[in-house]
Amino acid sequence: MIEVKNLTKKYGDNTAVSNLNFIVEKGKIYGFLGPNGAGKSTTMNIIAGCLAATEGQVLIDGHDIFEEPKAAKSHIGYLPEQPPLYPDMTPYEYLRFVGTAKGLRKADLAEQIEKVIDITQIDDVRNRLIKNLSKGYRQRVGIAQAMLGDPEIIILDEPTVGLDPKQIIEIRALIKTLGEQRTVILSSHILPEVSAICDYVMIISKGSLVASDTLENLSNYLTGDKIMDLSVRGEEGKIRMALNEIEGIIEYEITPSRDDDGIFDIVIKSDRDRDIRESVFFAFSDLRFPVLNMVNEIITLEDVFLRLTTDPDEVREDALQLRENLIVEEFDADDDEPDYEDDEAYDDEDEYDDDYEDGGGKDDKDDGDYKPLFK
Ligand code: ADP
Ligand code: MG
Repeated sequence: MIEVKNLTKKYGDNTAVSNLNFIVEKGKIYGFLGPNGAGKSTTMNIIAGCLAATEGQVLIDGHDIFEEPKAAKSHIGYLPEQPPLYPDMTPYEYLRFVGTAKGLRKADLAEQIEKVIDITQIDDVRNRLIKNLSKGYRQRVGIAQAMLGDPEIIILDEPTVGLDPKQIIEIRALIKTLGEQRTVILSSHILPEVSAICDYVMIISKGSLVASDTLENLSNYLTGDKIMDLSVRGEEGKIRMALNEIEGIIEYEITPSRDDDGIFDIVIKSDRDRDIRESVFFAFSDLRFPVLNMVNEIITLEDVFLRLTTDPDEVREDALQLRENLIVEEFDADDDEPDYEDDEAYDDEDEYDDDYEDGGGKDDKDDGDYKPLFK
């Protein structure tokens, strides 16, 4: 359906997208996930034929988007990050305008307009001016225009940014409905959004694809096993023997504690469905080996996302605690002192957190002009 080959986009010296390769198959919902600035919009603009690539190729149903734009674009409906709405038109007028531009005429045009109005549920507001609509309704109008012409692929760039929680739920439900009959690609910097809607996830970080798999595989692969951190005072040989007896342990690693002779730090990987804490406790109490620390870690998809999209030495102090287990090897490799002082890292993290709460990445850039109605 869509083939992206060696796609690179440079803005001057800044490489926004670097050598992307992926295939999008028919009839699924794809999530393009990455933090702000990762290159999502750039990629989507290129796939939709709105931006030229520096290198590489995009084929839509076999048609090159640059060489045969008309044939390629006819398969795609696109809702950019900033929907190109005309505030002084009504949704109905706007859809007529877009439909006509897409080459629809008369009965076909009228029929398709009614269809998209129905699917996106904007009938109530069809004759109001777009500038008077809520952001949720405007987003629906944006999705409605993307659907005109009945394209097989719908591309939505951060479709829920700036919406309130109720609107987010509604738009997500709408996207799910779209995905029943079409291929949908949506971008988001919000992980729960992608896990709520998508079948397939592509994680992009700093312009490169760092993971690409079904949501199920990604979750299973990375969150499939439970990890326990344990510290025990005792003898290594006996500790091993005890651990070998415990059911549910997949593997473990023992290292002598750095701080204290006779203490061993143990990382145990066990079946996700099994709680081994009691067995571990009794095994060591039988041996009269005191357990000094026992912590269960569950690697969440969030951890995975952060790990894949965060530089290990750009980690903020409080986030570090959460992720210590995941990135400890990278720190230990050559640098025992993670660089907390890196201002850029602070900024990036703050931006991410804010976005998480208000669901908006784009709005943050406009904070200077933003005048809240209520304080
Ligand atoms: P995302 O949509 O994932 O937030 P973008 O694709 O918008 O990321 O941006 C990727 C990178 O390219 C960023 O570093 C951004 O600053 C840069 N960039 C995007 N658009 C332009 C542009 N028109 N000119 C110069 N740099 C740009
Ligand atoms: Mg973007």
